[in-house]
This record gives sequence, C-alpha cells and structure tokens, in this order.
Amino acid sequence: MKRKKGLNLGEEYTNRKGKVVGRKIMRAGCGTACRMQCHGRIDREQRETIFHLFWQTGSIDKRGMYICHNVAVKDKATGKATSRRAKSVKYHLEIDGEKIPVCKTFFLHTLGLSDQFVFTALSKKDEGGHISPDMRGRHKKNVRFDEGGKGKDKSSH
Ligand SMILES: [Zn+2]
Repeated sequence: MKRKKGLNLGEEYTNRKGKVVGRKIMRAGCGTACRMQCHGRIDREQRETIFHLFWQTGSIDKRGMYICHNVAVKDKATGKATSRRAKSVKYHLEIDGEKIPVCKTFFLHTLGLSDQFVFTALSKKDEGGHISPDMRGRHKKNVRFDEGGKGKDKSSH
C-alpha cells in the first residue's frame, strides 16, 4: 500500500496529475447550541495544538491508536449479548494527558477527520467486543458519509 508522504502527514501535496491537493484543515466544531459546550472546554489554541500533534505523527496506525484511545464505545446493556446498535459512543480530546469529553462534531472537526475514518479505526480495534460476523453484506459498499471527502477536490477555494 503506497501512500503519498504529504497525504500521510495531512499536508499539501501534489497528486499524479500535478494538481495540488489541499492540506488537512481544522473545521469549526460544534455550535453554541451544543449541550456539552465544547468550545468552552477547549479553546482555539488548544484545538490547534491537538490538531497538529495528531497529524504530525505521520502514521496512520498512530492516528488509529489515538482514536481508539479517545473514543469509548460501550454497550448500553451490560452483561448480555447485545445487538450492535445498542452502543453509546463517547468522544474525548486530550490536553496534557487529560481527557476532555466533547461531542462528536467537535471531535471530528478538531482532528479534521471524517466519520468514516473513525469508524474504520474503531472497527479494527474491536477485538474485545464482537467483530461483526455479518459477512454476507461485505461486498456491499456502506458509505454514507461524504464529509471529509476521499477523492473529492476541495482545493478550489
Ligand atoms: Zn460540542
């Protein structure tokens, strides 16, 4: 699996067609209506620090570990075999080793990630839980999120 170095660092790079592809950017985060008031917990400067640390790792595995470390997936009903739907997901961002709970939007936006990236990272770690035995649907594409846009050209502004 080849990866462009620039891509892996979330920085600007030139693709095969000689086109400059935009670097990863931090997005706005949740709004003032957010019940968790994420912007009040983590300020702009801290967000930038988190963002840069995250992308500086230069390794997709490390980013996957960061996500697994900071996204807690729990079965809502404990002890029983539960359906895969009955999960609660909690997102955190780390500041000086402290985990600050934030909402999903804030988490994704601060790290400049797509939903799909997080989903993939989490599904890899799922060894303690149940890896979906559902092989029948495997060939189906299940892409519902297009924010963050793989293959989308976002350099036009
Ligand atoms: Zn929020």
